[in-house]
Amino acid sequence: MENFTHSFNKRIKWIYFLLLLLAIVLSATVYLRGEKIRHTAEQLITQDIPTYDLFRQYQTQLNDQERYLYEYYATIDEEYFSQGYMGARRLANEHLLVLNQSFGYNTHLQQAQNNMQIMDNIAQQFHQNMLGKPVNWDLAREQLAQLSDLRRLSIELVTHLTNITADKVNQSKHDIQDELWQVRGFVLVYGLITILIAIMVGRGIKAYIAASATSNRLSLFPKRNPNPIISLDEANRAIFSNPATQKMLLKLELEAEHVHCLLPENLDKYQQEVKDTDSHFKRYEYQIKNATLECELHWLADEKQWDIHLTDVSARKQAELELQFQAFHHRETALENEYALRNSLDLAAAQQHSYLLLLLEVHQFSLILSNRGYEMTHALIKELALLLQDLMQDSILSNGRLFHISSSKFAIQIIEPGQKQSESDIYRFIEASLKDRVFQCMHQLELDYGFAHFPQHGHDSSSVSKSAFTALEQAGHREQDHCVVFTHELGQKVAYELDMIANIRQAMNDKQFELYFQPQLSIQNDQVVGLEVLIRWQHQGKWISPGEFIPLAEKSGLIVPLGDWILNTACEKAKHFIDSGYEKIVVAVNISPKQFNRDDFVEKVKQALTLSQLPAKNLELEITEGVIMYNEVDTIERLRQLKRLGVMLSIDDFGTGYSSLSYLKQFPVDKLKIDQSFVRHLQSDEDDRSIVRTVIDLGNNLSLKLIAEGVEESSQLQLLKQMGCHEIQGYFFSRPLPEPELVNFLHNRQAQPA
Ligand code: C2E
Ligand code: CA
Ligand code: CA
Repeated sequence: MENFTHSFNKRIKWIYFLLLLLAIVLSATVYLRGEKIRHTAEQLITQDIPTYDLFRQYQTQLNDQERYLYEYYATIDEEYFSQGYMGARRLANEHLLVLNQSFGYNTHLQQAQNNMQIMDNIAQQFHQNMLGKPVNWDLAREQLAQLSDLRRLSIELVTHLTNITADKVNQSKHDIQDELWQVRGFVLVYGLITILIAIMVGRGIKAYIAASATSNRLSLFPKRNPNPIISLDEANRAIFSNPATQKMLLKLELEAEHVHCLLPENLDKYQQEVKDTDSHFKRYEYQIKNATLECELHWLADEKQWDIHLTDVSARKQAELELQFQAFHHRETALENEYALRNSLDLAAAQQHSYLLLLLEVHQFSLILSNRGYEMTHALIKELALLLQDLMQDSILSNGRLFHISSSKFAIQIIEPGQKQSESDIYRFIEASLKDRVFQCMHQLELDYGFAHFPQHGHDSSSVSKSAFTALEQAGHREQDHCVVFTHELGQKVAYELDMIANIRQAMNDKQFELYFQPQLSIQNDQVVGLEVLIRWQHQGKWISPGEFIPLAEKSGLIVPLGDWILNTACEKAKHFIDSGYEKIVVAVNISPKQFNRDDFVEKVKQALTLSQLPAKNLELEITEGVIMYNEVDTIERLRQLKRLGVMLSIDDFGTGYSSLSYLKQFPVDKLKIDQSFVRHLQSDEDDRSIVRTVIDLGNNLSLKLIAEGVEESSQLQLLKQMGCHEIQGYFFSRPLPEPELVNFLHNRQAQPA
């Protein structure tokens, strides 16, 4: 704004100067021209026009003189001479005198005067002649003729002078007109220039008004500004403070008018720093009482003045602190989180401090979550967090630091662990505290423990925590003692597993999997009544057992797409066998727990049946007891839905799982598959024999079909037959066969008499 006003003032000065100059030039011009016009007009009026008039009158008087003399001659009346001629002559003389004065010396005029003198002499002689008795008429005529000639001569001379005068009059008239035109032109140009300047100035004024309005507003800015603004002179004396400054003083309960109370203690130091910067500006934060203030320090070098803008940033600071807290603490328990753990591990590694890292996870957390729901589970976690916090007070963990790194996981870092802080000591200590503890929403809680050490199990914090996670993961899969200390063998095993998982994925893409079929035999009529579908994988020329890769597919979730492929392909093949004439054959497909527990499983079975056109009664699904363990209610409902589709259901590896015989009654299954571990030593092991017998009795009581797996010898078959088992499956009868061999096998069996 200041700049604008400055340039505006400068411009206005120039315009004013220009206008003044123009006005002076115009006035001088108009004055001089006016003088010239006045002079010319005066000359015209006082001299030229009267002279012209006198010449005309003189001419008339010359004519009158002659006319009177002729009248005199004609009438001999002397009065014409004395009255008429003499009167005209007197007038002519007077005129001539005046003309001489006004016109100045002129040969023509002189000559006219001489002529006049001569004419007068002749007229006097004529008069004498006319008075004579007798009158000499001839002389009189001659005298008149002389007079006429002289008059004509005089008239010519005078006409010449009259014309000169007329020209002069005309010239003056033109001069006056020209001058007037010029003056008019000047006035017009001046007028136009003035209008133009007025427009320019008008615009300038408009801009000036707008700018000064802005400047007014800006000048009000410090007053209206809700934040304190303080100006100090070079000696740091306050020369201005806005109303917000007083408000801030009041708010912080500081002495009113003492604006310095709001300024940072080390203002001098800051001022020096600001002066040293190019921008002459810096921002600082400082504390006054409980408030955090931000001060913007401006050095106005021109005015040798400090402008200080203060803002109360306490709320922002608080929010930042909270954010900072949130960034490093767990939302639910306010314990330090995984980022804090990472920092702590990094720091210890950087300082070359050895440490023990223990990861703790609620065992089967997702199962608890699905059974108890979100709220209860979180209440449980909070309770556990409190318990762990308490445990940290004990000497065995006292130099440890507790972190809550994800909803179900905690971590304890112990730097430079002592002799009495071995993994087993810590494990036993926590387990003992857990054992006695009754949680609000759950009677008991189990934890998985994964231990790793720096630097033994990783060269940096990231690899150590990876090792601890590996140990924890393994612990989660253990049946009992969910505690694993990381070892390099374990690391290699996990690495191998990861490698294998990648290979399985690749194998699926490359269609490396094949289905084999193991015939199942009816003991009563010696007929092939079923085929168990078993997957086979030849990887880099080596057969890899499904016992090895199926659990990995299960672990990685790949079992879902793989299981879909198995189911669809099995149904397709089954349909093919049926179409080849084996209408009664039931094809049994192994279903993994992950596959079974998916919500879309029933739908997938339905689709497989529809796609392959396989009658549902020709499909059997083998599920293990483990499947049922997850969620009994949902499992029963799912089994019912499958039953409604019409498929057969069997329980695989029966007897190895939890063997909760009570659930058997509720489950709509058709068949029990007696696990081969009981069959293997059937002849020698009395226990196995009694288990098998019990299972068979149970099955028969529940009207379930019974099949024994892993039958390798005829003695086993005989025993099973005696016990009342219905079907067998095993090497004794047939190994699992690829499709072409199976076709041959079935063909040969059919050819045999029943
Ligand atoms: P499983 O369901 O209990 O399958 C029976 C296993 O016993 C098969 O091993 C079979 O080859 C083997 N077997 C059959 N008769 C005898 C015998 O007389 N003596 C001995 N020692 N073994 C016999 P395999 O094919 O190696 O399969 C191992 C496991 O892998 C299966 O156990 C099953 O749990 C799983 N599996 C195999 N194929 C599939 C599949 O297609 N899907 C799923 N989800 N799991 C499968
Ligand atoms: Ca099976
Ligand atoms: Ca089995």
